[in-house]
This record gives sequence, structure tokens and C-alpha cells, in this order.
Amino acid sequence: MNRIRLLPEQVANQIAAGEVIERPASVVKELVENSLDAQATRITVEIQAGGRSLVRVSDDGVGMSRDDALLCLERHATSKIVRAEDLAAIATMGFRGEALPSIASVSRFILTTRERDADSPEGTQIVIGGGKVLEVKAAASAPGTTLEVRQLFFNLPARRKFLRTEETESAHIQHYLTLAALAFPEVAFTFLKDSRTVWQLPAVKSGNERGARLAALRERLRAVQGGEEKLVPVDFSAELSAAVESETDTGKSNQAGGPTRDLFRLWGYIGAPGVSRATREDQHLFVNRRPIENRGLNFALLEGYHTSLMKGRYPVSCLFLEIDPAAVDVNIHPAKREVRFRCEAEVRRLVAQALRQTLLQFHSEETVSPTRAAQPRPESPSASALLTKPTQTSLPQFPDHLRPAPMQTGAPTHQPALPMGFSPPEAHVRQSQGRPLSPGPVVQTLTYASSAASTSPLEPASTQASSPPSSIPALSPGAAVPLLHVPLRLVGVIGRLYVVLESDRGLVLLDQHAAHERVLFEQMLGRLEQNEQAHSQKLLLPETVEVSARDANFLREQLPALTRLGVGLSEFGERTFLLDALPPFVKVSEPRRFVLQVIDELKAAGQQVNSLRLGELMVAKTVCRHAVKANDPLSGPELEKLIADLRHCAMPYTCPHGRPTLVEMNFRELEKKFGRSQ
Ligand code: ADP
Ligand code: MG
Repeated sequence: MNRIRLLPEQVANQIAAGEVIERPASVVKELVENSLDAQATRITVEIQAGGRSLVRVSDDGVGMSRDDALLCLERHATSKIVRAEDLAAIATMGFRGEALPSIASVSRFILTTRERDADSPEGTQIVIGGGKVLEVKAAASAPGTTLEVRQLFFNLPARRKFLRTEETESAHIQHYLTLAALAFPEVAFTFLKDSRTVWQLPAVKSGNERGARLAALRERLRAVQGGEEKLVPVDFSAELSAAVESETDTGKSNQAGGPTRDLFRLWGYIGAPGVSRATREDQHLFVNRRPIENRGLNFALLEGYHTSLMKGRYPVSCLFLEIDPAAVDVNIHPAKREVRFRCEAEVRRLVAQALRQTLLQFHSEETVSPTRAAQPRPESPSASALLTKPTQTSLPQFPDHLRPAPMQTGAPTHQPALPMGFSPPEAHVRQSQGRPLSPGPVVQTLTYASSAASTSPLEPASTQASSPPSSIPALSPGAAVPLLHVPLRLVGVIGRLYVVLESDRGLVLLDQHAAHERVLFEQMLGRLEQNEQAHSQKLLLPETVEVSARDANFLREQLPALTRLGVGLSEFGERTFLLDALPPFVKVSEPRRFVLQVIDELKAAGQQVNSLRLGELMVAKTVCRHAVKANDPLSGPELEKLIADLRHCAMPYTCPHGRPTLVEMNFRELEKKFGRSQ
């Protein structure tokens, strides 16, 4: 007996809908992608009741003829690909010809469309209920397409039951729209929720030029997320040595013979060092403008941040990866949320490298500016390596006792210090107005709050030189001016740990321990890079340390690294080691305990990296943790040197474990806190 039969078209569509159309946000996504593929310059999305009762998407794109309008509702009807080979290099958002019939099979659906380039002012309207065409008629309409989807899943009660609250569903929709808006700043987006306008994003002029695209993205970011975030621009290109041909037949034959080189470009914005989130929520990644999720790339981002990110924190990013469509497979996920790269490892490596380079440059770029005046400056850190040895400069000295600013006498008359020791921000701005904006000498020293006026407060040599001075320095349009590029004035120390500083932008706190860790870490690496032995101090009384057999094995593996880093440990028996030297900055009363602690910490670190011998980097990080303990009081000159050294670090804004070294609260934030502004 024959039991197999072909399913009716409508059932097949509903099955497809089960995969592609998960919730109202999927409808919005499919419709907006179609509008984008149709070269729309304006897209309006309207939803009601979280998209359950209505999703309407209108565009001013190319539109469809009557025949096309009828055909587009058939399964596998698409204008985007023709042959199987086309699947190997998809340049549009859609290609399966599945979305419209699927949506139409599970909703009450009205399609109204008119060709943009046709002469006739008449359009077409098609009304469909649960997959059945109810009406096809001529209709007056503006050029473009409007799709109205009402009562989603009305004929699939089980599906409808799975929908979440209106708020949750709207949040999903808004999330997708945010991504679409970020990927297409040149398209104007309007979003209406229950007849209320949520967004009205004007089109941002963009074009193909790199700078213009970055600027357009920045503007869009500001429009959808507000502009408070401190971001750093990323613009990185490389050649992807395509292992493509060898793996698959992509249909791309290479006549010249040699290996094809595909372009790889990563651009966009990432959070400045110290900016991070507890979730991946603000981590947006696009591949050829398609928002995607990819574990490998997530990992590459973390890797790129390296020591600039705390454990358990995630980067903030809006990054666009542009890559030959033939090098990426977008046909692996029903909603195309995931993609696969033909050379995954290389893409990952390049992404990590791009981020790392950007973060290193963030600090070093401006310090290396050749138009430097003021004082002879030591070599600036090279962006390519962490090997700068901070050199001492002759800096104005602090008095030995650290007096808080207001106690100082002789404050310049034209800049009355406030009782709290803060000067009104206008005062600094006024002084700087007469000066050439940039490039100008950068004060690399710490100055007193009260003597700020006599020590010329200078503009940071910034790329945003043209931004006009305002009482509260606005965040620069492209990127934040690094905090260590603005003059800092010492106010005092609290809790014997936090150094309170003032800048023209507001309040700055420095964690002296974290800062010290960072400085020592980079100094240590610098010595290693130059094949110098780390500084080490012989102990007056060498000590023996006995450990468990397992720890002894582990420690033996780490001995070369430890020795190179100044921890003089040698084998002294089966399970006994002799400790005879320590790095000078490790001031411990019980050297034995120090060794045991280091073993524990290294073991914990080792569990993450899963290798027998930990790299010197890991060991250095661990050893630096024991630098000057948190509440060691530092004298004025010591603090001054600490900040000067920090300024010479390649990654000064976090300690080697990713904790911030500096926290800034600008005047705007202070005003908010004190209820002076909303
Ligand atoms: P796909 O996008 O995968 O091609 P869809 O089912 O989403 O499949 O759409 C089918 C076809 O309908 C598209 O290929 C396109 O030609 C046409 N189409 C859909 N939406 C629009 C629109 N907003 N403007 C113009 N044409 C559209
Ligand atoms: Mg589509």
C-alpha cells in the first residue's frame, strides 16, 4: 500500500514558516530585509500589540509588477538568485524565496506594490488569508511596497500560545530594527509602536569612502543609542589568503594560477579600554551587513581585548566585517543568524589582531605626534609591541607632603579655586581659547589643581581638533579623547588606594594598585622582549619551600618563566624548591607564602589556557598582582611617577587582568547626579 503523498502547498508553507517565522520579530526582519534588497531609501515599520495584531512595513523601493506580485507569493520564487552556483556568493539579504509565502500562510496578509520605474500610476493589491488568495486588484499607491501582516499565527493556535508578552515581542522587534538601522545608515527608518513614534531616523549621507562610512555609522549610533558611550573607531584591512579553492569548489576559478587573495576588512566602533558590559547585549557584529552570531568571532573579540577586559565582561562593539561573499556561507541557519567562514581560523585571527591594534593605537597614536613641543619626551610606546621601557623624564616635582589643592596659596587670581578644590570648567576653557587648538604640546605631567592656570592647560593633540571648546567638553564625534591625554591635577588620595584627580572634563579616580600592576606588567614584558633579565633582588636569607608532589611537577614547568621574571626559584629536592630572589617590587614579609600563592594563582590561570607550561605573559600577570599592595601610601613624587609611567604604557586604561585603572566622571554626569540636568 502506498502511504507517501506530496503535501499540499499550504501545508508546506506552514512548515517552512515554522522554521523561518518564529515570532513577530522574524516577520519584521524578513520584510525589512526585502525592502533593503529592493533598494529602499525610506522604510517605515509599524507594529501593534508587539506585532501580534499588526506588522506593517512600507518602503520606497523598486516595487513589483502585477505578475511579480503574484509570483512572489509562490514558494521558491525569488529575483535574487538564478542558479545553484549563485548560492556560493550571496550579496543580498534574501535568496530562498521562502519568506513571503511562509508569512502569508500564517497570517492575514495584504501586499500593495507599485513599480518605481514604471510609467503607470497604478499599483497592485493582493489580499491573502491563511495562505489563500482572496483578492487581487489594481490599487492606487505610491511607488514602492507595503506589506501588512495581521493576526500572526491566527491559524496556528499552538504557535500563538508560545508568543511572549507584548513588551518582550516589541523588544525583539526593536532589537532587530536597531541592527538594521546600524547596518544601513543611508536608509531612513521610522518605527511606530501602537501608533506612537519610537524612532524617526533620518538618512545619513554615507557613500563608499571609509571616513564617511565611519562618520555615518557614528551618527547612526548616536541616533539609536545616545552618544554617551566612549568609542574608538576601527578600520583594518588585510588580505585573506584564500584557502577557499582547496576546500570547496566555489565556482570561482582562478585564471592567473596563484592563490587568490580576498580582501578582509573590519571597520566600525568598539568601546574604549575600560568600557565593557556584563552581557553581550551591546556587542553587534555584521558580516557583509548582515547581523550575525558566531562563537568564533565572539571569542576573537575577547582575544583582541586581551588584558583590557575583565573576566566575565564583554566588549561593546558595532563592527562590520566585509569579506568576499564566496568566503562565507550564509545558508546554514533558517533565519540566517549564523554564518560559516571558509577559513574560520584566519578570520578569527584577523579580527583579534584588528582589535588589538586598535586598542594599542588608541593610546599611542597621539603621543607619537611629531609636532610635540614643551619638553623632551621619551620614546613613545610603539603600537606594535608592549615593549616600551618607560623612561624617566624630568618632571616638575611634587612637594613631599601631599596637600590637597585648596590648601595651596597663591592661586592665580583670574582662576578662583572653588572651596572644594575644583575650578569651574569654564576657567580652563577660557585659558585654552587663545591657544592654537591642535596640534599642540601635550602636558605629560600631573599638575596641581591650584596651579593649573600657570601650567598651560593644553588641548590634547586630538583628531577632533575642530570641535569648539564648550564649558563641558563634548564627546568628540568620532572617538573619545583618551583620558591620559588631558592634563590631570592631583586633589588627594582616599582610602589609601584611590587617587583623586581633576581634569578639565570632571572628576578622575585612579586605582593606584591597578595602575601599578599595569606599569610593572609592561615594564616586565618590555625587558623580556629585549631579552633582558627582569630586575631581581637577592634575598638576604634564601628560603626553602616545600610543596605537594603535584604542585612540584607543575612548578617545575613554570621555573624558566619565573626565573626570567625575577623570581629566583630552583629545585632543591624532590618536592622542595629554593627561593633566593624576588622582583624588587614584590615586598612580602613571608616569601614562602608568596610562592605558594603564586602557585595557586598560576594553577587557576592554567585551567583556562589548558596547557602545561604557562606563557611568560600569564606568569608576569600573576607576579604583578603582588606589586605594591593596595593601601601602601605613596608619596607625591611616587604618585606623579606612577601617572607618568602609566602614560607611557601601551594599554594604560586597565590592569593586566582587565580591571580599570582609571574611572572618569565628567561634569555632565556630575550634573546629572546633583539634579542640575536631566
Ligand atoms: P527572497 O527575499 O528570499 O527572494 P521573499 O519571499 O522574501 O524571498 O521575496 C520574494 C521576492 O519578492 C523577492 O525576491 C523580491 O523579488 C520580491 N519582493 C519581496 N519584497 C519586496 C519589496 N519590499 N520590494 C520589492 N520586491 C520585493
Ligand atoms: Mg526575503
